Amino acid sequence: MNDKDIHEIKELLSSSKNIVITTHKNPDGDAIGSTLALHQYLSALGHNSKVITPNEYPEFLKWIPEEDSILKFDNGNKTAISEIEKADIIFTLDFNHLSRSGEMESTLAKSEATFIMIDHHQQPDTYAKYVYSDTAMCSTCQMIYHFIEKMNDIDKITPEIATCIYVGIMTDTGSFRFRSTTSTTHRVVADLIDKGADNTSIHERIYDSNTLSRLRLQGIALNNLKVLPEYKTAYITMSQKELDQNSFKKGDTEGFVNLGLSIEGIKFALIFIENKGEGIIKISLRSKGGFSVNEFSRNHFEGGGHHNAAGGKSNLSLSDTIDKFISILPPYKNALNQ
Ligand code: 5GP
Ligand code: MN
Repeated sequence: MNDKDIHEIKELLSSSKNIVITTHKNPDGDAIGSTLALHQYLSALGHNSKVITPNEYPEFLKWIPEEDSILKFDNGNKTAISEIEKADIIFTLDFNHLSRSGEMESTLAKSEATFIMIDHHQQPDTYAKYVYSDTAMCSTCQMIYHFIEKMNDIDKITPEIATCIYVGIMTDTGSFRFRSTTSTTHRVVADLIDKGADNTSIHERIYDSNTLSRLRLQGIALNNLKVLPEYKTAYITMSQKELDQNSFKKGDTEGFVNLGLSIEGIKFALIFIENKGEGIIKISLRSKGGFSVNEFSRNHFEGGGHHNAAGGKSNLSLSDTIDKFISILPPYKNALNQ
């Protein structure tokens, strides 16, 4: 996003506008943090904006400032549809292709609003008039900080906005450990703490909010974990039955994929989660080093994401999906053993 774009966005925002802020399906901490941070920044500029998510998000995010103002598109929400229809500006955050917005896609595609994309995923699409895309960024939340900085409004960051931004940086960097975490990320985070983000309490609210059933699910995940040493690969399966027997709630399996990646020597980890409601197997993929799970998921599982973290899906049964997965691994043997 160059100075000209910022200047034009300032112009756009200089008068009253109907603004919608949206994000990807199955929103995570970065999606919810970035949309709510931008929403509250726009409030500070005097704008009323609406945050609309395609669907429900995890329980452990249900405390973030102004989270209760979010509209969810998927429960037949007429208000959400009419907000999108009357929008003059639509910010799309933390995704790079309208198909990532799930059931919202056709309503968004019909809109004549000015689209502004802020995102860090690979291979951004071209639907937006203004694109702030940086695949080197650890999180969309860090980009929201830089966007506010470019708008010359750093002093408008309230403790609540700082909290939202902190959540997304923390969750998307695996608590400041992934390669995308830079010295700039730490400087941004330091400033967020100075501006009122309570780091200890944010960590506790996100990571120490396990339910007993979630811990039991984690036990099942560990029990189901399989290692393929010749491919330096580990994968976990979770069947719908296992989820149902442990009162699964959205977000309960978040982070389980990293259990496989924590095994010494493992370079590629996946979790395959059966979703009978949607008739799919939802896949999360993670890697360390040079192996691109973005490419792997694009090529085989209708997904994508980042170099070391991606998602995808399969329309086969759980066992057929695993068979397919194991059958496509051989050509990757060298890459995984490098
Ligand atoms: P997760 O495995 O946590 O759902 O997602 C990992 C990363 O991949 C996130 O950045 C997420 O936005 C992206 N991602 C997840 N599922 C999909 C998908 O089906 N398609 C694409 N293109 N990206 C995905
Ligand atoms: Mn993100």
